[in-house]
Amino acid sequence: MGRLHEGVISVEDLKDILPPKERLEKGPVAIIECIESIPCDPCSLVCKQGAIIKPSISTPPRVDYDKCIGCGACVPICPGLAIFMVDYTYSEDKGLVYLPYEFTPLPEKGEEVIALNREGKEVGMAEVVKVITYPDKTSVVCIAVDKDLVMEVRFFRRKENGEKG
Ligand code: SF4
Ligand code: SF4
Repeated sequence: MGRLHEGVISVEDLKDILPPKERLEKGPVAIIECIESIPCDPCSLVCKQGAIIKPSISTPPRVDYDKCIGCGACVPICPGLAIFMVDYTYSEDKGLVYLPYEFTPLPEKGEEVIALNREGKEVGMAEVVKVITYPDKTSVVCIAVDKDLVMEVRFFRRKENGEKG
């Protein structure tokens, strides 16, 4: 059972809006985890493909997975940090998760970090593959995780001095 009533979104809460397996196998795609009816729309305005559907300003957004090209433009734009991008085509056993990241200092490419799920629980290790910064937007960090964790990992923390993975 989902824990939305506790403020935690689960994969079960999202099951009707996640991309089908066939789309995931084609390459990067946005995952929007915004299911509350709040008046907000920068996500739909930033998507040049018209892939973010929002019939009214208070309707939760939905992604048209046939239109989404995985450009990533929507990830840093969400004030609620509710947009991610995943890519199952990265390697045989690893997939990528692109996360909005507001902490500083930023991690470095190649750094090993601790992958956290939506509840903030440690679920495994991850490698920082890319760090994307903008002058006026939230940074985006791309991490590689085991494929079976791609839909679970939604944050990470840096290792503390001397901490082993
Ligand atoms: S990743 Fe790009 S194409 Fe896909 S929904 Fe976001 S802005 Fe639109
Ligand atoms: S920008 Fe973020 S919080 Fe606002 S509607 Fe889009 S996904 Fe939801």
